[in-house]
Amino acid sequence: ELKRKGIDVVRFTWIGLDGFVRFKGAHIDHLEEMAKSGIGLTKAMFSFTPMDYISPYGSFGPEDQDVFLVPDPATLVTLPPYASVLCDLYDGDRPWELDARSKLRSYLEKLREKEGFSFMSSFEYEFYLVKDGKPFNDARCFDPQGMNDIIITRIVSSLKSNGIDVLRVIKEYGPAQYEIDVMHRDSLRSADEFVMFKEIVKNEAYNLGVEANFMPKPFNNLAGSGLHLNLSMWEGNKNLFYSEGKELSEIGTWFLGGILKHARALTAIAAPTVNSYKRLRSGSWAPTKITYGVNNKSAMIRLPTPYRGGMGKDTRLEYRVPDPLVNPYLLVLAVISAGMDGISKRLDPGPPVNENSYLKEEIPEIPRNLREALNELNHDVELKGMIGERLIDEFLKVKMAEVDEYEGNVTEWEYKTYSKM
Ligand code: GLU
Ligand code: MG
Ligand code: MG
Repeated sequence: ELKRKGIDVVRFTWIGLDGFVRFKGAHIDHLEEMAKSGIGLTKAMFSFTPMDYISPYGSFGPEDQDVFLVPDPATLVTLPPYASVLCDLYDGDRPWELDARSKLRSYLEKLREKEGFSFMSSFEYEFYLVKDGKPFNDARCFDPQGMNDIIITRIVSSLKSNGIDVLRVIKEYGPAQYEIDVMHRDSLRSADEFVMFKEIVKNEAYNLGVEANFMPKPFNNLAGSGLHLNLSMWEGNKNLFYSEGKELSEIGTWFLGGILKHARALTAIAAPTVNSYKRLRSGSWAPTKITYGVNNKSAMIRLPTPYRGGMGKDTRLEYRVPDPLVNPYLLVLAVISAGMDGISKRLDPGPPVNENSYLKEEIPEIPRNLREALNELNHDVELKGMIGERLIDEFLKVKMAEVDEYEGNVTEWEYKTYSKM
């Protein structure tokens, strides 16, 4: 069938702990054998930002045995002349302990079997369309001009034809900034769709001569791009966050209590680049304080009231810290772990903040930069234990290398400001 569609190469795709989507391609003529055996991958190359030589920071060297990329056919997308399929990473015949996708899957399976709980999530994707380093149009927020463009039309139809259920398409705040919201799904599927989404959008944009840019803060003085995560917890087809006449059920408030408790550590995973913290600024619609509120867009967790008449059966938490450079598997794994900790300890999140929290000095802040956030994660022993110590330690190594390189780098701003002093 792929041959009929004119596909030459099938990308065996994975996302590293650094959040970068990478692939190794299998030619269609040899696909069958490689789909069975998997394609070997040097461990040291799993995630190696920002260096393209053997990193002194990572845990692996050239002498380590390969892991194997084994495709999951349910995740196939076609972007002629390519197709792309997401892979699990196997170390011998077992899922690799540093593969966040396998980790999330086994965690969700365990929660379903032991407790009867399952999770649904969806992401709200924000991004810019860029040409020659600049926004490619100057359409304003909700501006019909910005929606007439063929590029956004093509992007949406490619998402749809690849099985992604688009709900809303919005011309966002910034010039040539867009938001696309998709239907909620089982949490593993929704993390898979994150990787598929970015590939599809980048590919369509590229084919039409622009670049889809998912940086949290690509331009000075223009709106940042977030990736709000909507999450709900289920028992069969019962939404456990829903409670008649209340904003959130009791179990939902405990879950929320867990997220607030681990909020500082979670920030490292939700806002995982040095650029992320240039988005998380006062007044930006992106959060700066550890709060929750009812339909409050200055809060870290928003309880959306999307319909006239309130929450209804769609009750969910909207976590507003994440940006589009996350590893979605690690993000969802971490947020659910924190929430489950809240449930097991019956943590009370306190009353909601329903005022502009940017203006409330007494509310504790989320970390201001990546180094601070990584240190918080490193010291949150409970959360690390729940997610998996090896996985988090490797994430910390990869990300500390990024911080180190960044901090040694002289920026244009510094030169402009200090060179004449
Ligand atoms: N662009 C904002 C952010 O960086 C979000 C705007 C919105 O509420 O949709 O989080
Ligand atoms: Mg938005
Ligand atoms: Mg939102």
